[in-house]
Amino acid sequence: MDLKKIYNNRNEIINGHINELKTMAGLASKTEKNIFTLRENICNECPIKVNNSCDAGRWIHPKTLDVVTTSIDGYIRGCGCRLSAKQKSKDSLCPAGFWGGEF
Ligand code: SF4
Repeated sequence: MDLKKIYNNRNEIINGHINELKTMAGLASKTEKNIFTLRENICNECPIKVNNSCDAGRWIHPKTLDVVTTSIDGYIRGCGCRLSAKQKSKDSLCPAGFWGGEF
């Protein structure tokens, strides 16, 4: 993730890391935890997830789930984010539209 992207997304990133800590400390509400878990489960099935990241070196077609390694019309690039924090940022969206907008 480049510095400009980090700056533009700083509130989402900060919110995600705070909520990750709240979840680890048992302070997140049951509804929040359920949504965070659902997001985690979706990412775990996603073919462009690599370890704990949404791979910015891959593009996914949101309907066919086909994956390519170069930019093609209709394919969405991985965001490069650290997923365990992003999934816990209430305002964050999956770049391919698989989750987000629940809150
Ligand atoms: S954020 Fe979306 S595109 Fe990225 S790994 Fe998760 S489900 Fe896949």
